[in-house]
Amino acid sequence: MTCREAIEKLAEYLDGELIPGALGRLEAHLEVCAPCRAYLATYRKTTELTAKVGRVEMPHSLRRRLRSLLSDEIHRAP
Ligand SMILES: [Zn+2]
Repeated sequence: MTCREAIEKLAEYLDGELIPGALGRLEAHLEVCAPCRAYLATYRKTTELTAKVGRVEMPHSLRRRLRSLLSDEIHRAP
């Protein structure tokens, strides 16, 4: 699984909607990929915060910013 695929699955993962095969692949990727773990932590935190103020969806602008942050991390990695 690539980072792009992992990120695309995170919303379903957090909603508990991933099928078992995809869930296993995503978790295996998270095991070995620190940037995606960081992304997941941020994503989870943000969805918790937005849920508290009555919004379920992460704003698109924030999602975009997180994605570009993540790709910077990946490009910086050795
Ligand atoms: Zn990754």
